[in-house]
Amino acid sequence: MPAARLCYVSPVGFVGGAELSLLDLLTHLDRDRFHPEVVCLGEGPLVDHLTALGVPSRVWPMGQAVARLSLRGKRSGLGRLLPAIPGTLGQVARLAAYLRKAGVRLAHTNGMKAHVIGGLAARLARVPVVWHVRDFLGQGRLEDLVFWLGARVPVRIITNSQAVARTWWERGVSPSRVVAVHNGVDVERYEGRDGDAFRVSLGIPAGVPLVGLIGMLAPWKGQMEFVEAARLVFRSAPQTRFVIVGEEPYLTDGHGGFAESLQRRVMELGLGHAVFLPGYRRDVPEVLAALDVVVHASTAPEPFGRVLVEAMAARRPLIAADCGAVREVVGDGDAAVLVPPGAIASLAEAMLALLKDPERRAALAEAGWARVRQQFTLEAHVRQIEQVYEEILGVSREPGTHATAWVAESREPKGEA
Ligand code: UDP
Repeated sequence: MPAARLCYVSPVGFVGGAELSLLDLLTHLDRDRFHPEVVCLGEGPLVDHLTALGVPSRVWPMGQAVARLSLRGKRSGLGRLLPAIPGTLGQVARLAAYLRKAGVRLAHTNGMKAHVIGGLAARLARVPVVWHVRDFLGQGRLEDLVFWLGARVPVRIITNSQAVARTWWERGVSPSRVVAVHNGVDVERYEGRDGDAFRVSLGIPAGVPLVGLIGMLAPWKGQMEFVEAARLVFRSAPQTRFVIVGEEPYLTDGHGGFAESLQRRVMELGLGHAVFLPGYRRDVPEVLAALDVVVHASTAPEPFGRVLVEAMAARRPLIAADCGAVREVVGDGDAAVLVPPGAIASLAEAMLALLKDPERRAALAEAGWARVRQQFTLEAHVRQIEQVYEEILGVSREPGTHATAWVAESREPKGEA
């Protein structure tokens, strides 16, 4: 059987969590059976990462009107869709023609705009399409439209968590078409890393307690709450230092200016010497190695939270805001201290308690490390995605394997759309 040509569609060219997960998948995909290629609907460094992996890619940037639309932004809505329609249809037609001509067997879309554009293009080209949904959809007419398409366009929806899968079942998409596949990490990448260089770059000596939050800078990721909690911790433990790692990746409406607000608040609180914002880091395993406590502080439901798994793989004690898929990822409290989302005083209390208790830190770290090895390896992730492809293409390697079987017990059927 010749290898099946797969076309991934990325809505963006920058490298955020969704793109890192896609790169992880492409790194380990069985190239004897699948020939991957990627169409990026935006410019950015993703293409260089793909080239380094030997995955062919092409960049067809969306027009500004489409690129700026955002479901998490404040000003998006059905009205804002109108100016984006001509550009979207143009992209759909171009991609459909390509999928047909290139003999692509399966399309796999990796973000909301790619689901719509890639999904419609694949339907036009009569190529089966899988939507890889990595985010919650909110309430609104634009979101209703995406749910409506989701029930009709993709042959499967892969979600990054059960929590996200549930939202599709609840909107009438047949549970048999929705498969929850958790992200995985390359556990070896986090073993035996040295955090000294990162500490030196911030001027923080070894032995000084350092608490960190890693992730894109966005209001819902909770960096502002982290700063407010840092202020409370600092009052009784003034030797503590804090670091917020990440940058603002969005070019979309409703985003921008958050990094400046954070920096301003840090200065207003007189914490310029204690709270650091070093920007985006490519060496997250080393950054994690430098931290005594890792905080995940999302204030809106977290669809997965790669950083949670990375922190566990790096044997770091975690404090996590209990929302969305967080319990699915970290469990009920053995591997992370859970705090209510947005609760600044609880977050500060949890930080102080952990900083004072090295034994508890070690116990959390050990439990997290074991959890990742059991449930969040990259190998397991890739195998489950390949099983979805096999089901659709009818090229099963192991007869009888069924990619959706493992989610069956938690399905909540709400009827076929
Ligand atoms: N990340 C990174 N450098 C940074 C900040 C974040 O490499 O400075 C990575 C982080 O390690 C994680 C991803 O970006 O793999 C963020 O994924 P997550 O699911 O936590 O959040 P998202 O940004 O996708 O909502």
